[in-house]
Amino acid sequence: MLSDTSSTSNDRGEMAVRAAEGVAATALKNVMQRVQQAAERASRPVSQVRLVAVSKTKPVSLLQEVYDAGHRHFGENYVQEIIEKAPQLPDDIRWHFIGHLQSNKAKALVAGVPNLYMVEGVDSPKVANNLEKAVGALGRRPLKVLVQVNTSGEESKSGVEPSECVELAKHVKLDCPNLEFSGLMTIGNADYTSTPENFKCLAICRDKVCEELQIPTDQCELSMGMSGDFELAIEMGSTNVRVGSTIFGAREYPKKT
Ligand SMILES: *Cc1c(COP(=O)(O)O)cnc(C)c1O
Repeated sequence: MLSDTSSTSNDRGEMAVRAAEGVAATALKNVMQRVQQAAERASRPVSQVRLVAVSKTKPVSLLQEVYDAGHRHFGENYVQEIIEKAPQLPDDIRWHFIGHLQSNKAKALVAGVPNLYMVEGVDSPKVANNLEKAVGALGRRPLKVLVQVNTSGEESKSGVEPSECVELAKHVKLDCPNLEFSGLMTIGNADYTSTPENFKCLAICRDKVCEELQIPTDQCELSMGMSGDFELAIEMGSTNVRVGSTIFGAREYPKKT
């Protein structure tokens, strides 16, 4: 049998994927334990904290392994990628689109992912309006959305300023009947790290939103905390942590040529 260099490198790729199997399921269990312990430290019921497994750049075989371990909430942040993966995986997965969404991709996202559970990253009225239209056109039930807040004060394209969160939340709640305003989300700093100040800032935003919109605190989620800081985030009130590399391993992006 001929064996050329390309098939050799394919085999190596497959072996790497196989070697990673089992590891992700174990890592998931470990993260779930840490979630539980953080909730206990904060005297919060663990049922109030959702773990989203952030699977961007990872192969569907690895997502399937985490699914087989019983996990259902998965997060992606590239529209093209989630649209390609969703049909290859069971349809009872609850997909989260996380981070900035380009308004012109809202329609493709909603149409391509029938089991889209939540969009964590509405940061402009335009994105909200485009999601609203897309859900309406397909006759789907209302889509849960979180308003993304820039809690770092750094220049950043994604997230409204804390002073603007009430206005955008109000727009979603009052003007978008096909969307279900479900809370707030933050990434923290531009380098994807967070400080206690970021988490505190998001909690203060929630207080303002709940007061202005007259909604109970437990109907306004706080999506905050990633691999490096999800335990602190839970201790500071997070209801939704987004954990990627600690479950799936470090991400490798294709080298630019
Ligand atoms: C990638 C990503 C995460 C997960 O980051 P890790 O540090 O790998 O846990 C969380 N939230 C958003 C918005 C992301 O894009």
